Amino acid sequence: MPHTRTSRVVALSAICMLSPTLLAWDAHGHRTITLLALDAFAEKLKTDSAASRELAFVFEPSGRAQAAYQSGEPDRYRAIRLGQLRHENDPEHYIDVEDLEPFGLTLSTIPPLRTEYIRAMVVAKHEHPELMRPYNEKTDTARTQEFPGFLPHAAMEHYGKLISSFRQVRVLEALKDPARADQLAAARANVLYELGYLSHIIGDAAQPLHTTRHHHGWVDDNPDGFTTNRGFHAYIDTTVLGIHALSYDAMKTLPLSTITIDKNDPWKNVLEHVQRSFDQVRPLYALQKSGDLEKEPGKAFIQARLGDGAAMLAAMYAAAWQASAASEKDVKDFIMYDQVSSPTPNPMEPRPQSRPADQPAPAPAK
Ligand SMILES: [Zn+2]
Repeated sequence: MPHTRTSRVVALSAICMLSPTLLAWDAHGHRTITLLALDAFAEKLKTDSAASRELAFVFEPSGRAQAAYQSGEPDRYRAIRLGQLRHENDPEHYIDVEDLEPFGLTLSTIPPLRTEYIRAMVVAKHEHPELMRPYNEKTDTARTQEFPGFLPHAAMEHYGKLISSFRQVRVLEALKDPARADQLAAARANVLYELGYLSHIIGDAAQPLHTTRHHHGWVDDNPDGFTTNRGFHAYIDTTVLGIHALSYDAMKTLPLSTITIDKNDPWKNVLEHVQRSFDQVRPLYALQKSGDLEKEPGKAFIQARLGDGAAMLAAMYAAAWQASAASEKDVKDFIMYDQVSSPTPNPMEPRPQSRPADQPAPAPAK
């Protein structure tokens, strides 16, 4: 389940029971976002014949179908009841923006490195335990509920992995070595996996209920009388898409907005993507309250969220491709570390330094 953070037993609504998956946008929603993004990515590469050739495997029907399938993989991990996997995977599907506040953080001030983010929260909790929301570790065996979520960090980590996977395809394409056909096949499979994985995270972020503590109905103070039904999450993920027949085929001719991101460090762009979704939490609850969610305004709303997810994803695909150019050194390094049987430099002997000793080490990424 997404956000399995409240362990109290609650009666599942009839809506919930109709939707056994309960996994963010359901696989259909994640596939839709992936396919829309691949269309937009192909469009961005249209004038780059070399890229279009090297990525032909992505855009052919089988590649598209595989990437779309992979966009459901992080949710399938949730079905495995292994503490370590749940501990790592579950909180990567969301960030509850309001819950940053007791830790003295906001979306724009969270540290971009995962461990520094955790450290900041642990320090805040130690110094000001009285500010923290109640947390009971006895009912949270996988310890997934103590912190507000890691979605932005997961998005960045998988963005980096997509760059690496793209680069490896480019290295192997540059080598043009028939003996490396299996390596190229594996490298391409990795690209399809990471295209899908990143799609899942960016798609989750576009679902407003993945950015808020009100993820399964409104909690705590509720002056607007928004729904408290825990089935609301699954209703958005699945039922509403069905009501409005939202699918790739229904949306493929709609224009996506153009989002520009920093290919070297899209952290801010990822946070902006989360913020756009978070800004829609109240409007979403208001649409439910008025009954408009099942009418045209609701269709436009959900379509816009899916479209924003696809537009952001296409921008990240294109940026990752641009950042993945393989230099001659990348090719040489690959051969050197791959060919274990050939002579390799003796690491015990002094080697020329790749940067002069008087030049400072590169600053860590912001
Ligand atoms: Zn998810």
